[in-house]
Amino acid sequence: MTEAVVEQVDILIIGAGPVGMTLHLALAAGGQKSLLVDRRPQHLQQNDPRALALSHGARQLLEQIKAWPTRAATPIETIHISQKDGFGRTLIDHSDYDLPALGYVVRYRDLAAALATQLSADALLDSVEILDITPADDHVTVSLHHAGALRSIQTTLLIHAEGTPGDDPAVKVSDYHQHAVIAEITPQPGHQNRAWERFTPDGPLALLPLGKEYSVVFTLPPAKADAVMAMDDTAFTAALQSQFGSRIRFAKPGPRSRFPLFLRLRDTLVKGSEVWIGNTAQTLHPVSGQGFNLGIRDAWQLAEILLNNGVDRNSLARYAASRRLDRQGSAFFTDQIVRTFSNNFGPLKVVRGLGLLALDLCPPARHFVAKRMIWGARAWP
Ligand SMILES: Cc1cc2nc3c(=O)[nH]c(=O)nc-3n(C[C@H](O)[C@H](O)[C@H](O)COP(=O)(O)OP(=O)(O)OC[C@H]3O[C@@H](n4cnc5c(N)ncnc54)[C@H](O)[C@@H]3O)c2cc1C
Repeated sequence: MTEAVVEQVDILIIGAGPVGMTLHLALAAGGQKSLLVDRRPQHLQQNDPRALALSHGARQLLEQIKAWPTRAATPIETIHISQKDGFGRTLIDHSDYDLPALGYVVRYRDLAAALATQLSADALLDSVEILDITPADDHVTVSLHHAGALRSIQTTLLIHAEGTPGDDPAVKVSDYHQHAVIAEITPQPGHQNRAWERFTPDGPLALLPLGKEYSVVFTLPPAKADAVMAMDDTAFTAALQSQFGSRIRFAKPGPRSRFPLFLRLRDTLVKGSEVWIGNTAQTLHPVSGQGFNLGIRDAWQLAEILLNNGVDRNSLARYAASRRLDRQGSAFFTDQIVRTFSNNFGPLKVVRGLGLLALDLCPPARHFVAKRMIWGARAWP
């Protein structure tokens, strides 16, 4: 086989999901070129069934790179938080924060499409197979197959944005023993732009307004998720209704998908000339919708540091230090919510109820939580 000609780039990004594309566009907006490569044919992003709750802060960043999917985004005006079979509830309202919405719900595929339309024709190689990654002192060489040809790309910095990592000794994994079953369902009456987070002993149940529907994230132990996946639509609607209660009637559920849930935390973000961002750096439980909101802050912060300080290893070290508080704070926040709320232990139920009541009755405590959901890192102390 003939040797591939070595091509040179400043920045190679593996993974053209929402985080990789955001980084590419933020760099391009500052005049820095980068190359995206992805193993997935680009049109297959349209098959992703997830809906994402995006914070107000994420919207502002996406607007700066002209990738905010205005028509596909449904505003969240209030969030109602409660626990099943227990007292206490909290209501967070956008009008307390002088904002048009606390956040927005967007289908993954619409977000990916909005980002992809901003890419230039030569920004992305899709359907690639990465064959080898060889680090050297001041660069990394990546060999890949693309369109039937072998290519060798030498890059000053290699950015990993491949999404949830597989087996990797550098990633600590904690199994929640919960699966998220997701589906869209029609509420009667309409949703009035209200999101619901309801804690049940099986796991959190979230309802996110999306168009005229609710996007449901129904978290369950694996065996119950098996059963729920196997149900017909009538039994599924009844199961959801019994977890949620009777305040809203559900009808016409769409197709269901499931995701096993883990906390995966990479211990170091930087190695030599390589850096890990987005889900490949940290994959969180979907409770309170932190994952992409954290990943977009990774991408933004990295772009700012590279644009201001130059494309080199020193910038990567600075980046890793700058992300410590936000990623650890977000991982700790979601992990504690899941562990505190996913059980039926009587005394803990009382403490949780008191906590929800206190949040509702004490505006400073409620604002503390709400601001972290709206702004993410900028709201950490
Ligand atoms: C049920 C559920 C609900 C969620 N809800 C929310 C929410 O409400 N709000 C929120 O903020 N987050 C939410 N998340 C998290 C969110 O989906 C992720 O944080 C986000 O998709 C991560 O984006 P990413 O670009 O890092 O990774 P991905 O979206 O996984 O994209 C990674 C890309 O890398 C490519 N790739 C992978 N391996 C390779 C390889 N070897 N070579 C080349 N390319 C490769 C893939 O093809 C893909 O295109 C949810 C997650 C789940 C499971």
